[in-house]
Amino acid sequence: MSEHDRETVELPETIELPRLLDFYELQTAEHTGIHEFYENLRAGTLTTTSCRDCGDLQFPPRVVCPECHSDELEYVELPDEGELFAFSTVRAGAPLGMESEVPFVTGIVEVGDVRLSSRIDGADYDELEIGDPVSLKIVEIEGGADHERVFFRFEPRA
Ligand SMILES: [Zn+2]
Repeated sequence: MSEHDRETVELPETIELPRLLDFYELQTAEHTGIHEFYENLRAGTLTTTSCRDCGDLQFPPRVVCPECHSDELEYVELPDEGELFAFSTVRAGAPLGMESEVPFVTGIVEVGDVRLSSRIDGADYDELEIGDPVSLKIVEIEGGADHERVFFRFEPRA
């Protein structure tokens, strides 16, 4: 076979984010058992689940209590202010769709009685200290799904 017989294949200029590698979960009742968490977040409130049977408070929200296996969970409100418990900066290996945003800060935030991991916006690593007060920030996610999506981040308290 001569090189003139070879077929040419082309690659697209841009490659759409593969759905399964999308960092953000699908957020409707059709797609996730914790859709109420996202509905609350869309309405401006960070919530999580608490077990009616044993009192366990979880984050992220669950559909079954990891302590007693009850499914009698209720959504409870978390404060929209917290404290930076730990933080680091991402310089490489960011999730797909976030590669252009490096370096960015991620951290563990103490919010009420839970600790959660979150992007920390609005500050460089060198400007932050453990114990810094931070506030909830809700971001809209564009693309990747056929419904509106939101997610939470935190930023230094103004
Ligand atoms: Zn329980």
